[in-house]
Amino acid sequence: MDPWWAKAAVLLGTLVMVAIRAPHGQRSRSVPVAQSRKGRLEIALLTLAWVGFFLPLVWLASPWLAFADYPLRLAPFLAGVALLALGLWLFHRSHADLGRYWSITLELRERHELVTRGVYRRIRHPMYTSLFLYCLGQALALPNWIAGPSYLVAFGLLFALRVRAEERMLLEAFGDDYRGYMARTKRLIPGVW
Ligand code: SAH
Repeated sequence: MDPWWAKAAVLLGTLVMVAIRAPHGQRSRSVPVAQSRKGRLEIALLTLAWVGFFLPLVWLASPWLAFADYPLRLAPFLAGVALLALGLWLFHRSHADLGRYWSITLELRERHELVTRGVYRRIRHPMYTSLFLYCLGQALALPNWIAGPSYLVAFGLLFALRVRAEERMLLEAFGDDYRGYMARTKRLIPGVW
C-alpha cells in the first residue's frame, strides 16, 4: 500500500485530537486549581508524552525517521484506523463528561466534584482508555518502527507511573465516595480490568 494512506490517517487523527483537546485546554486556564501534585516525575512523564506524540509528525514531515520504515499492509492499516476512530470518539466523550474538572496533570479544581456518569459510569479512566486505543491504532497504522509505537511507549509509561497517584489523590479528596466508585468500576476496560 502507498504510505500516503498512513500519512493521511496520522495527520487527520492528530488534527482531530488537537481540535477535541483545544477548547478544554483553553477553559482549564480559567478554572482555579485548588490542589496540584505536579511533581518532577509528572513533568518528566508529560515531556516524554509530548515527544511520543510529536515523533509521528516528524515522520510525516521529514525523512529523518525513514530508515525505520517498513511496508504498509492493508489489514493492520484498517485495524489501526478503526482503533484511531474509536479512541478519538472516547477521547471526545471523556472530555465532555469530565468537563471543567479536566487537567493535563494531577490537579483538583476549586469545587471539584466526582464524575461517575456517562463514560465514567463503568470505568474510572476512560480518557486513558481512549489514549491507549489511539496509541495502539497509531502503532498499527503507521509503518515505522520508531514513530509508530512512540506514543504508545510514552503514554504507557505515563499511565503506569501516574494512575496510582491519581487514584490516591481522588481517594483523599472524595473518601468513601471514591472507594465505592472503585468497588463498582474497573480502571480501563469495562468488566475486565
Ligand atoms: N484519569 C481520568 C481523567 C484524566 S484527566 C480518565 O482517564 O478519564 C486528569 C484529572 O482528572 C485529574 O487531575 C483528576 O483531578 C481528574 N479526575 C480523574 N477522575 C475523575 C473523576 N472520576 N471525577 C472527577 N475528576 C476526575
